[in-house]
Amino acid sequence: MHRFLALFLLVFSAATLAQAPRLGVDGFRNNYPHPDKPSFLAWQWERLRDGLPQPPPGGWNLPAMRTDPVALGEPANNPSVTWVGHATMLLRLAGKNILFDPIFSERASPVGFAGPRRIVPLPIDIPQLPRIDVVMISHNHYDHLDVESIKRLAAMAQGSPRFLVPLGLKAWFMDQGITRVDEYDWWQDTREDTLKITFVPVQHWSKRRLNDTNQTLWGGWVVEGEGLRLIHTGDTGYSKDFQDIGARLGPFDMAFLPIGAYAPRWFMKIMHIDVPEAVQVRADLRAHRAIGMHWGTFESLADEPLDEPPAELARRRAERGLSQADFDVMMIGETRRLERLRAP
Ligand SMILES: [Zn+2]
Repeated sequence: MHRFLALFLLVFSAATLAQAPRLGVDGFRNNYPHPDKPSFLAWQWERLRDGLPQPPPGGWNLPAMRTDPVALGEPANNPSVTWVGHATMLLRLAGKNILFDPIFSERASPVGFAGPRRIVPLPIDIPQLPRIDVVMISHNHYDHLDVESIKRLAAMAQGSPRFLVPLGLKAWFMDQGITRVDEYDWWQDTREDTLKITFVPVQHWSKRRLNDTNQTLWGGWVVEGEGLRLIHTGDTGYSKDFQDIGARLGPFDMAFLPIGAYAPRWFMKIMHIDVPEAVQVRADLRAHRAIGMHWGTFESLADEPLDEPPAELARRRAERGLSQADFDVMMIGETRRLERLRAP
């Protein structure tokens, strides 16, 4: 009998450990301790006082191109990834079309007339996309979850994609009239034909309204299929979670990692990695290659110059003896083929 009890406790505690920690009315919390979120108002005051970010006289140097919708559908571009801008990436894998954090609107904002505006034109719009099979959402912040984009995707002529969302966010989708939606806890996985998809922990937070801080979960998505293993981390600060993900699900052929919206560090550090941290995350995940995202798309999200992240990345790569292919950036709108780099 004692043996059964021990087994029950073991299974029960393992199941508990695998879930996102919850703090009653305070909602979800991160796996590893970190300082409290600093004052948003203090940051807003500082950037107003210093006039940040300051566009250079000739404008930002942000590489962009139009996405060719015909090329997207060609067999030669499977597997591939297309950077639509910010954290929005279109993945073609095993014949499936997958969108991460789709935002196709002019602003990353609760309202259409104010808030961070797109400074690089959208390289492709929803009607030009191939049929989208799956949409994955990292968390509910406005630059990752955009109501207009979600509604337009759900109304696509080819039928609504399947929406995979963090725990607690399904109700928001149902409120929009979207029914093909499932919510996931950390380490839970699902299948889409031959693909295996797993929701993984990162250090972040969530908020969409005045009173809903951390009431829905946040995280990254791991996709495995066609011999490839990829991760899109969403928004994240630096934590030991990446060593955990690397140990459990690594190595990866490719990691899509945020490299922008890092300044000022005193405000951003707990929620957004900077470039040196992104280089360390690639190592922790045991990712052969990484592509930097979450930069150069929307104005006013943070204080660093909008074209600084790739220059900073080039410096940090050189310091660590990495090649450009090891950790690169793409043009907004660019499609890049994906290769298997792990040993079979
Ligand atoms: Zn966020």
